[in-house]
Amino acid sequence: VDPDARATPAELPRGWALQLLALWSFAVAQPLFDVLGRGATFFVARRATPAEVWLFALAAALVPGLGALLAVALARRAGPRAGRAALLAAVGLAAALVAQAPLSRAAGGEALWPLAAAAVLGAGTAWAYARAAGLRSFLAILAPAPLVFAGLFLLGGPVRRVALPGAVGDVTGIQVEDAPSALFLVLDELPLQSLLSADGAIDAGRFPSFARLAALSTWFPNATASHESTELALPMILTGLRGAPDALPTAADHPRSVFTMLASSHRLRTWETFTNVCPPELDDRGELDARELEEPGLAARLGATLRDAAVVYGHVVLPGPLARRLLPAIDNTWGAFGDAAAPAQQAAPDPELEATPVESEQAEALDREAKTAAARTARPELVREFIAAIDGSAEPTLYLLHVLLPHGPFVHLPSGADYDPFGLPSDFPGGRLPQAAGIADQQLQRHLLQLGAVDRLIGALLARLDEVGLTERIAWVVLADHGINFQPGEYVRQAFPRNVGEIAWVPFLAKRPGQTQGAVDARAVETLDALPTLLDALGLESPWPLDGRSALSGAGPRATPRAVQRRFHEPLVLGDAPATSRRNLERKLALQAGAPGWSGLWAAGLPLELVGTPAAERSAGDAAGLVCELDPPRARDGRVPIVVAGRIEIAPGTATPTELWIAVDGRLRAAALTLEPRRNGIRFSALVDEAAWSEGPGEVELWIPRGEGRLERVPRS
Ligand SMILES: [Zn+2]
Repeated sequence: VDPDARATPAELPRGWALQLLALWSFAVAQPLFDVLGRGATFFVARRATPAEVWLFALAAALVPGLGALLAVALARRAGPRAGRAALLAAVGLAAALVAQAPLSRAAGGEALWPLAAAAVLGAGTAWAYARAAGLRSFLAILAPAPLVFAGLFLLGGPVRRVALPGAVGDVTGIQVEDAPSALFLVLDELPLQSLLSADGAIDAGRFPSFARLAALSTWFPNATASHESTELALPMILTGLRGAPDALPTAADHPRSVFTMLASSHRLRTWETFTNVCPPELDDRGELDARELEEPGLAARLGATLRDAAVVYGHVVLPGPLARRLLPAIDNTWGAFGDAAAPAQQAAPDPELEATPVESEQAEALDREAKTAAARTARPELVREFIAAIDGSAEPTLYLLHVLLPHGPFVHLPSGADYDPFGLPSDFPGGRLPQAAGIADQQLQRHLLQLGAVDRLIGALLARLDEVGLTERIAWVVLADHGINFQPGEYVRQAFPRNVGEIAWVPFLAKRPGQTQGAVDARAVETLDALPTLLDALGLESPWPLDGRSALSGAGPRATPRAVQRRFHEPLVLGDAPATSRRNLERKLALQAGAPGWSGLWAAGLPLELVGTPAAERSAGDAAGLVCELDPPRARDGRVPIVVAGRIEIAPGTATPTELWIAVDGRLRAAALTLEPRRNGIRFSALVDEAAWSEGPGEVELWIPRGEGRLERVPRS
């Protein structure tokens, strides 16, 4: 027994503060830096300055330990025994956290027992710390750990290039006068199939502005993404170069870009939202620059970064079910659907898909965090800011925008309104949709409604070009970086042979100055070709060789086969063949049920002839053995309350409903797309057409179709 502990049982051991700091850096900084240090997107997407990155690393290394230290110091004021108890609790908690992440990973990430095991290990460590001087000496040796972790993080990996950015190489761009102006618009997460109607043309009924854009452009329906992942796809689009696989999406790592190429010949009015390829000194946003001064200060930005890092840390240490339940998902809903999904709804093992490494799940969580940060700015607002910067100046100008639209979170509607997605399923484990077809359909429904909102913004963009007299004389390239897949049980965003038709094929439209007629060109094009195509349309030549080639040049088959590069796997070769998959499209057509406009999508399976009819006329009374409970409607910040969600309790022996219809103010409006089994019942959710809420108080009733046109009402509990 340690004589020191016996002699002064209530005193804190010597050097306890440094020991605590060291132990807490093992608990928090080490696993956090391990994940964040694999790439630097977390900082690039936030446009973090070197000072912010350094402060962040020091804060992450020291703040958790300082918090524990403060707690012990405060407890000590209540008495020496309280101080000692607090110290042992702080040691035990830190040790449990150190053990939790590796235990959870070893157990596959989903099991809960590692929490109990970690708690036992933590308690054991606290016990040993109180009794064994050797352990305390060992921790004293580790005292420099916080600074070592921070140093390795800042200087030992890719983060170094954000923490200590090299000078941006001097690049001489194109030196010409009087070039035409250019519009370079990159949308995000938009599969070509979403824009199409059954005949393979652009759906002019639902997307009139995309159709007008195509009617003024050459449309390349056989265009594919060069990379499946935004942070690598965008630099390829902005440079026309394949780039090094470990390059960061920054100006330092991409000195030769559309920005440096056109900086001498054009004014640059450019908005990147996830990358940082434009050297800041080149951007000229006119009066908008003054507004940038009002951006949040260093402390606020650092606070936001630390908050996001805390969420990433939560994903690292918590088992999957708890992380999904407790941590905010990308669309700021809380994971009400993550718990207790019935085994039948979980994705079945699939040898092709199971090949993805474990790190991809963490990478996915990290990606989502980075995108949350980038999407936090109101995205339609950003597009409107971009549109407002388009003036009629005779000075050649590059108007460039990459916006995370129609990318999730899905919250925008074709009317221009937003809704609160609380209560809708989101944030699927491992980036794969569950097997339940209704959940996949609802994601597709929300994606298409959001695409309707994007069409409205495209309309505003075209109206602005008309207004300032640029429509005819400007050149443009409009494309998306990659698509998205809505098949049940499959990966939403990672490309595999099965879903590559949904992930790789994207819209790609190009226009030369003076072009007023649409054309379609079915040759194989990839997003790497965007910049060469824009240069060709402008009548300019690149000062340096590019890997892509102009889609407008009319060249024959490519020298090397076209492929989509992937983050965790070898590239998928696509060749010159057009997409044969129409799975998203078929799903969409079924959901729209041949109805005009958005009415079929809103009805979501409710027979169209019943939409808007009084439910009570068909009532066969109340359903026996069922009661429902609705989530309270949520409509904060001017958002429209269109989500109906809740649960139905099912008495033993009563059949589980397989269809559920929603009536608002007595009239039938929609079918619930998600009906998920829960203990003693089901959880359901639906979107109901905005128009249905405008006429009355918005009283919601649930009805179950029972055949022969009869309905039974589900009473409230
Ligand atoms: Zn993307």
